[in-house]
Amino acid sequence: MKFPSQPECWGRYPRATHTVRPLAWRTDPLPEINGQTVLPFGLGRSYGDSCLNDGNVLLLTRGLNHVLEFDTQNGLIRCEAGVTLDEVLRLILPQKWFLPITPGTKFVTVGGAIANDVHGKNHHSAGTFGCHVTQFELLRSDGTRLLCSPTGNRDWFAATIGGLGLTGLITWAEFRLRRVDNSMIEMESVKFGNLDEFFEVSAESDRDFEYTVAWLDCTASGDALGRGIFMRGNHAGPEIKTFEPHRPPRVHVPCDLPNFAMNHFTLRTFNALYYARQRKRRVRRLVHYDPFFYPLDAAAEWNRIYGRRGFFQYQFVIPSEGNHHAVRRVLAGIAASGQGSFLGVLKTFGAVKSPGLLSFPQPGVTLALDFPNFGGATFSLLDELDRIVLDAGGRLYPAKDARMSPAAFQSRYPGWPEFARKIDPKFSSSFWRRVTVAN
Ligand SMILES: Cc1cc2nc3c(=O)[nH]c(=O)nc-3n(C[C@H](O)[C@H](O)[C@H](O)COP(=O)(O)OP(=O)(O)OC[C@H]3O[C@@H](n4cnc5c(N)ncnc54)[C@H](O)[C@@H]3O)c2cc1C
Repeated sequence: MKFPSQPECWGRYPRATHTVRPLAWRTDPLPEINGQTVLPFGLGRSYGDSCLNDGNVLLLTRGLNHVLEFDTQNGLIRCEAGVTLDEVLRLILPQKWFLPITPGTKFVTVGGAIANDVHGKNHHSAGTFGCHVTQFELLRSDGTRLLCSPTGNRDWFAATIGGLGLTGLITWAEFRLRRVDNSMIEMESVKFGNLDEFFEVSAESDRDFEYTVAWLDCTASGDALGRGIFMRGNHAGPEIKTFEPHRPPRVHVPCDLPNFAMNHFTLRTFNALYYARQRKRRVRRLVHYDPFFYPLDAAAEWNRIYGRRGFFQYQFVIPSEGNHHAVRRVLAGIAASGQGSFLGVLKTFGAVKSPGLLSFPQPGVTLALDFPNFGGATFSLLDELDRIVLDAGGRLYPAKDARMSPAAFQSRYPGWPEFARKIDPKFSSSFWRRVTVAN
């Protein structure tokens, strides 16, 4: 297996320098490190510095890639923490099982999915990844191995799910799967003309569809503010018999695009064309799970289109009460700034409680957007958006963050002092040092 010599986060900002230590076997002790701190690193699909440990050590977990047990009757899988969701899917689908939760890329490790307690398009019905974890082993730097589950070592279970890799190394984990009859999704896309329409379609869809999410044209303004295309779907019924797994990425972005490639014009044109692509208000289709869940996985290393300066992903959740107004203010701010995004994704989170002390989701509406890094102008815009989000009682997602202030983190993650007591003394990250410096 090839390991990166200088791993990066997905947004490629900030840059960091590391000593890397590839891990090979779950029973090995942690490598000896003199005077530096360590952080586990999966596939680096976190956008910002939560997967970085600048000037220190990264433990590369991809070598922990063994599936240990797969109970095909009851849909329970146990694997080492460096196994990817891509690998799990290839194994379980032919046995009529599917992931209980999946983020928008399958190229994440099981350890990474737990450490960020990731969510997917079915949050309203199934909660986060951690809700489906039955047990895992946590290796601490003093050599202790803790078996953690909802009933055993519960405090370590709660601290490690969504625990940003700071409580120790997850060596292996076990989680429940979801039954399916085939590899297809019955999908409907519904065009909506503004934000009020989004909330109507979303409320109606969450009742009847397991998966819901909307793409948003974040360059639209005025009466069209918040327009987009709502995608909803259910696993297809038993009359369809195909179990074809997904294919490798079709294209590969060969080099960094120049920074000027992402500008107001290209972003506006892309958004307008994407919105116009669907003529009818409602379209129904039978689609393979791969383009439905993972449209971005079709192009390997797509993050290079943003050039060497990288980009920010900005994702927040605003609690249910009064969120329409705050989301409208965020969208108006973005449209006015001219710093749009290709990928505005809007979704309502449901009430299923996440098991992690620091898990991000809470009932309300979540919006995720990409911003090319234009330096000061981008930082100012994101600071302005922070103020709107925080005023509305919302918070930002650490897995996507590279710049939130200590106050923004500490005020919105009240469990953090309790969590801090569970951090392994030899573990740290760039994110953690940034958000816990004194205000
Ligand atoms: C295209 C794209 C779409 C995405 N869509 C979503 C989405 O819909 N929902 C969502 O929630 N997230 C989403 N994400 C974010 C991604 O799912 C998370 O950042 C995920 O945690 C990345 O996993 P990774 O294996 O790459 O871990 P890394 O990014 O390498 O690390 C993530 C964290 O996990 C810790 N970690 C990794 N392995 C271990 C281990 N064995 N033990 C302890 N800690 C460990 C690391 O220290 C770090 O804190 C998306 C990312 C991309 C690039």
